[in-house]
Amino acid sequence: MKYIGAHVSASGGVENAINNAKAIGATAFALFTKNQRQWLAPALTAPQIERFRSLMSDAGYTAKQVLPHDSYLINLGHPDKEGLDKSRESFFEEMRRCELLGLDRLNFHPGSHLKRISEEESLSLIAESINMALERTKGVTAVIENTAGQGSNLGFRFEHLAYIIDRVEDKSRVGVCLDTCHTFAAGYDLRTREALDATFSEFDRVVGFGYLRGMHLNDAMKPLGSRVDRHSPLGDGEIGWECFRYIMGDERFDEIPLILETPDEARWADEIAALKSFANL
Ligand SMILES: [Zn+2]
Ligand SMILES: [Zn+2]
Repeated sequence: MKYIGAHVSASGGVENAINNAKAIGATAFALFTKNQRQWLAPALTAPQIERFRSLMSDAGYTAKQVLPHDSYLINLGHPDKEGLDKSRESFFEEMRRCELLGLDRLNFHPGSHLKRISEEESLSLIAESINMALERTKGVTAVIENTAGQGSNLGFRFEHLAYIIDRVEDKSRVGVCLDTCHTFAAGYDLRTREALDATFSEFDRVVGFGYLRGMHLNDAMKPLGSRVDRHSPLGDGEIGWECFRYIMGDERFDEIPLILETPDEARWADEIAALKSFANL
C-alpha cells in the first residue's frame, strides 16, 4: 500500500495536523510536534495526548503513515560541547513527544560539522547522539534524512547515512528518509528510468531498502549536483514527473509515509491526487 500526503500545519495544537491532512485527501502526513524554530516547548498535556490519539484512530491513520520532523535548530554532530548537549537534550525531548503521541518514527537532518571538525568526527557524534536518544526512549525509530549538502551539512552521500547506521547499536530503531530534491541536488540523477534504477540500486547497495522509513517527494529548483536545497512543485522543477511516477509504481516504496514538502500548499490536494493515480489508488 502507498501512503501519500504532505507536511501539514500543526499550528494551534498537534491534533490539528490530522484534520489538515484529511482535508487534502492525504493518507500520510508529516508534522512538527512543537515550534520548529524554538528550543523549548511546553510539555504535552494528558488531554492533548488523548485528543491526538483518538483523532488519529477516528481518521484512520496509524503510526506508519506519520513522519514527524524535528526542529531545525538541532545539530547532533555539533563540534562544541554546549551546542551538542543542547541538541541532544532537545532531540531526546522530541523523541519522547513522539512516543507519548503513539508515533513510531522521528525524521531529522543528521547534522553539520560547521567546518570545525572532520566529516568522520561529526558523523560519529551523530551516531553517538542517536544511541543516547534510543537508550532513553521506547518504540520510536530515529529516521535520518539525506540532505542536499548545502554549507557544511552532512548526509548528502549515501555513505554518510551508512557510516552513521553502522555505529548505531540498535539497528531496529534507526532508519532513513530520502528526500528526492536533496538526493538530486546532492548529485544523484532521478530524471529517467535508467537514472532512477541506478540511483536506487546504489542506495540499496550502500544503505539498504530495509532501512527506508519514509520519503520526501519534492521537485528541485536547481540543477543536478547543485548542492542547493530549493524545493519546487512536482513537475515544475529539474527532476520532472517521471521520478514520481516511478516511485508510485515501485513496491520498494510501499508501507512508508510519502510526504510532499512542495512550496505551494494550494497544490497539495492535486499533487496527492496525481500521485494516487500513478499508484492506481
Ligand atoms: Zn527535512
Ligand atoms: Zn525533506
